Amino acid sequence: DGQVVHCVGCGAKVQTVNKSELGYTPKSALEKGLQNGEVYCQRCFRLRHYNEIAPVSLSDDDFLKLLTSISATDSLILYVVDIFDVNGSMISGLHRFVGDNPVILVGNKLDVLPKSLKKRKVRDWLRQQANAAGIRPIDVELISAKTNYDVDHLLDQIEKYRNGKDVYVVGVTNVGKSTLINGIIRQSTGIKELITTSRFPGTTLDRIDIPLDDGHSLVDTPGIIQPEQMAHHLVGKELNLVTPQKTIKPKGYQLNPAQTLFFAGVARFDYVTGDDREGFTVYAENNLYLHRTKLENADSFYADHLGGLLNPPSEERKADFPALERHEFKTTQKSDVVLEGLGWVTVPAGVVVAGWAPKGVAVLLRPAMI
Ligand code: GDP
Repeated sequence: DGQVVHCVGCGAKVQTVNKSELGYTPKSALEKGLQNGEVYCQRCFRLRHYNEIAPVSLSDDDFLKLLTSISATDSLILYVVDIFDVNGSMISGLHRFVGDNPVILVGNKLDVLPKSLKKRKVRDWLRQQANAAGIRPIDVELISAKTNYDVDHLLDQIEKYRNGKDVYVVGVTNVGKSTLINGIIRQSTGIKELITTSRFPGTTLDRIDIPLDDGHSLVDTPGIIQPEQMAHHLVGKELNLVTPQKTIKPKGYQLNPAQTLFFAGVARFDYVTGDDREGFTVYAENNLYLHRTKLENADSFYADHLGGLLNPPSEERKADFPALERHEFKTTQKSDVVLEGLGWVTVPAGVVVAGWAPKGVAVLLRPAMI
């Protein structure tokens, strides 16, 4: 009724409208809190009860202050990215906030990459993408937070590079930062009670400190919402159908020029010009529906079948799904057309192809990883 309520934890103005903004609380929780005389925003509630740091939006002033405060520290930065969504993992301006601190780049979700993939090439690609964003990692590690693969090795590398400093873990949402942090906590037996939460000075944001052997901390920071992620255009089950869940089984296609492959309704690949019967390989979630059609019919096919045969997105949500945008490439070597957050298509040299993804989601060309 127009009354302004502040969160007991962080002091933010409580609001029930925008999940990604400061002070968000579900209506039911607000009513309960008002009865108890103690209202926490959802972020503070989760932090108190689950030691979970809730995401913040990129435009959040407090988040920028937090990053700036990191640049003033003498620390090691652990920058977690999703191997499947490198662009969607980027924190814009991170290089300015890192200052002179060393960065270990952690590529997560290795478990979904086929064994045939050359890890060295994946590491090179990650390093190159980081360099393009102005970050020069001292080390690039590939792990799976979900299966715990090489997390031990990552911990060894952290010890090797931190030289008695604190470690700050940064990453956008959906890259698996919480899964990794929880794994690290689980591995450090008995440490659970020692976890403390405290404020980043000058912000309303909280941090989780995981004590290290020498009195220093591994500090978990809030994840930032990176709007340019495929994941933000999908919900629940749709997301599981699009995001690779298990090790990808590559699918081979022989295509003629002027043929199109739909990735359900979320992306599209066109073989525009080149030789007949060329070999293409699709790397995407094993259960994602792939549909081949003629390029000349593709636009009308998409319009007719979006939400039906081409699902996700579902019939109910297709109106909210962004239009697909076309990105054309001419290859001079065997290459991958990367559809960020979804997977990629390996294409031969000497062809013209196009990748389509929801507006804002990156489509890139890289040398083939296999
Ligand atoms: P956060 O937002 O960065 O904290 O990410 P979460 O830890 O919540 O993970 C986001 C999604 O990615 C969840 O569905 C996780 O199950 C999944 N995920 C996290 N780590 C891995 C991983 O190593 N492999 C796979 N396949 N999925 C992962």
